[in-house]
Amino acid sequence: MSAIDTLPAAAVASDASAGQVRADGRSPLIIADKVNKHFGHFHVIKEVSTNFYQGEVTVIVGASGSGKSTFLRMLNRLETHDSGRIVIDGIELNADLKHIDAVRREVGMVFQSFNLFPHLTVLDNVTLAPRRLRNVTRAQAEEAARILLAKVGLAEHAHKYPHQISGGQAQRVAIARALAMQPKVMLFDEPTSALDPEMIKEVLDVMKDLARSGMTMIVVTHEMGFARDVADRVIFFEKGQILEEAPPAEFFSNCRNERIRAFLGQIAN
Ligand code: ADP
Ligand code: MG
Repeated sequence: MSAIDTLPAAAVASDASAGQVRADGRSPLIIADKVNKHFGHFHVIKEVSTNFYQGEVTVIVGASGSGKSTFLRMLNRLETHDSGRIVIDGIELNADLKHIDAVRREVGMVFQSFNLFPHLTVLDNVTLAPRRLRNVTRAQAEEAARILLAKVGLAEHAHKYPHQISGGQAQRVAIARALAMQPKVMLFDEPTSALDPEMIKEVLDVMKDLARSGMTMIVVTHEMGFARDVADRVIFFEKGQILEEAPPAEFFSNCRNERIRAFLGQIAN
């Protein structure tokens, strides 16, 4: 059952008109329509409009400070927006706490710093949210968690504490933990930036598998190899605006924008 089914009809955004059904029949899972945000006098997100379609993998790139994290955090209301609309799976994000709860159940997030609970085992980190919020028994939650831990290659580590595993393993636990809530979309904010180089691949491989399984993903990253191989679309943020969005082949090969070429030149990999 989708979270939308649990909301009264009046709570559900009445139109999908801001987002369009595409020719391939896919409808937008996330609609951002003329979204603005300020921090004090600083206009951090400026009239950003874009749709994220079901099953689509979007990579967001851009210089530090361009608003990537702020934009991502607005999609599960870790930040509020000042104006414009954000609609997730038909639920409009606004001050209504019921909407925020419903959206948070649908949107998983993985941060640069893994934010695991240090006093809980790997298994308990993964089962905590479903047990509290999804109304499942410990046995059901643990069974589901063990399947997820096996998927991210950590079946043998369920009993360990976060300080007993590597950064790459911790990030894979964080991914399993987000997936345990059975989200419809996964947000990643520089998931490999805090990792030693030899651990980056194991995390990207898990993310690639997830993309192949059809998960809708929005990923802020500097890993251009991942963007080329996995993304359906690359968005370039500059000073709180979308300067360019294109499929990776187009984005990387014939980008005419001087700013973007300079940026890619700096992080070339
Ligand atoms: P990015 O993720 O692209 O590096 P951010 O979204 O983190 O960019 O930040 C965009 C801008 O907003 C930066 O100038 C940053 O300093 C500022 N900023 C971010 N969070 C806050 C906040 N909570 N209060 C004030 N300014 C902020
Ligand atoms: Mg950031």
